[in-house]
Amino acid sequence: MFDNLSDKLDSALHVLKGHGQITEVNVAETLKEVRRALVDADVNYKIAKEFTNTVKEKALGQDVLTALKPGQLMVKLVKDELTDLMGGEAAGVNLSGDPSVILMSGLQGSGKTTFSGKLANYLKNKKTKKPLLVACDVYRPAAINQLHVVGEQLGVEVFSDEGNQDPVAISKAAIAHAKENGHNVVIIDTAGRLAVDEAMMTEISNIHTAIEPHETLFVVDSMTGQDAVNTAKAFNDRLDFDGVILTKLDGDTRGGAAISIKSVVNKPIKFIGTGEKMDAIDVFYPSRMADRILG
Ligand code: GDP
Repeated sequence: MFDNLSDKLDSALHVLKGHGQITEVNVAETLKEVRRALVDADVNYKIAKEFTNTVKEKALGQDVLTALKPGQLMVKLVKDELTDLMGGEAAGVNLSGDPSVILMSGLQGSGKTTFSGKLANYLKNKKTKKPLLVACDVYRPAAINQLHVVGEQLGVEVFSDEGNQDPVAISKAAIAHAKENGHNVVIIDTAGRLAVDEAMMTEISNIHTAIEPHETLFVVDSMTGQDAVNTAKAFNDRLDFDGVILTKLDGDTRGGAAISIKSVVNKPIKFIGTGEKMDAIDVFYPSRMADRILG
């Protein structure tokens, strides 16, 4: 994960760590390298620039030049700032409802169905939760089937109504079914399309308005770099979701989405997907991610 970015940041900071004496000039040079590494990792230029400016101000404020171990102080400042940029604290999912309704959104192929299964499994393993998965992709029978396969594999019930073309009606029926059958979490997997379009946005916002979910999650493929951030922005403008799920972080991802999504949409990343298997799900901890990025 983020190997390229980690290597570049390591070499940027290495120069500084190796220096006998630290000067304002080599701090500036180091931060320029850091900025370049972030931009290469698909972090938006403006965000990268603000990032290094903040680190620079903090470095000067903390008298980095006269610090006992200036190199280490710089690494710490970069790490703290990365943590802040990615949201600071880990953010939980609202499970206060009975049932708690969780609406999944995102483009086709982002990993929505897979993540719906992973989340159901994650909650089921907590013992106090009995999730119900709901198949609301009314356009693709294969997607409904895919959710049934996942549900069967996990021992989680899947609600679907093949032939019904109304995702609002299906969602409402599923919530009623959950109440009758003691499910305390309802996870609604919706239809995605290959690109943001009006029909998809209208459909997902109609479901959102009609069922008032406790939690609306936006799922995005981290491999898509800056597009991931742009798509997040387009969804957020219409849907006002509560959190982001960043999938496929096990792939050769550059890191830009993880680093910049929070500051662009002001919504936290809540979970990450790290593989195709149902247990490849992790809570997103900004500080742990910053540690991983900086090695
Ligand atoms: P949907 O169209 O949004 O429902 O996307 P799917 O859940 O069908 O996922 C699309 C593809 O991405 C499938 O082949 C999944 O196995 C794969 N996928 C989903 N999440 C991850 C992940 O975290 N890591 C990897 N490597 N593959 C994933």
